[in-house]
Amino acid sequence: NSFAEIDLGEALNENIRRCKYVKPTPVQRHTIPISLAGRDLMACAQTGSGKTAAFCFPIISGIMNGPVAQRPRGARTVYPLALILSPTRELSVQIHEEARKFAYQTGVRVVVAYGGAPINQQLRELERGVDILVATPGRLVDLLERARVSLQMIRYLALDEADRMLDMGFEPQIRKIVEQMDMPQRGLRQTMLFSATFPREIQRLASDFLSNYIFLTV
Ligand code: AMP
Repeated sequence: NSFAEIDLGEALNENIRRCKYVKPTPVQRHTIPISLAGRDLMACAQTGSGKTAAFCFPIISGIMNGPVAQRPRGARTVYPLALILSPTRELSVQIHEEARKFAYQTGVRVVVAYGGAPINQQLRELERGVDILVATPGRLVDLLERARVSLQMIRYLALDEADRMLDMGFEPQIRKIVEQMDMPQRGLRQTMLFSATFPREIQRLASDFLSNYIFLTV
């Protein structure tokens, strides 16, 4: 019932202490061990349940402890290892801010890209390197079409507020994005889907994107 009992590593635990998180929320307590064990996950999570940390901790831990990624260099394309998709600019900014705190001094770099804002500043941030990309679907499709981002090295995919993304009409973009990931065929990509509700369309996304997944309602 404490973060120390979950094996997240010293650097991450130090950052968790810095954030003044004392014990995991129910969503975190149930989902983090499953994600650390490498399983795909679909989880019920409302705003305020602590879901951001629930998907960020295993991603950061996995990147720190996983094999060193041999990413292509040159050109102007960047190859993030993890992608967090979120429906809105506000939510993306919020996730980015939290993820940066969690990744402090870990060497894991987090960049955010969202629509409705000039792309140039975001391109400059991407060019400096990116391990975890937090993005809204429309802006990410734009970056993919410009060949500024490649998803071929994605090991972790988190879909946050998936029901809201579908309500906003992002399903075609999400499908286009996930199609570009190489890893699922090799069984190496780990996917986490968070949603407040589970209509048929969400269940269909889950069966298309997740493999052998655990469904958790806390
Ligand atoms: P979220 O549901 O991810 O938007 O988180 C809601 C709020 O709870 C945010 O301000 C988090 O920083 C905070 N929070 C998340 N997990 C914990 C925790 N284990 N202990 C204390 N606060 C937390």
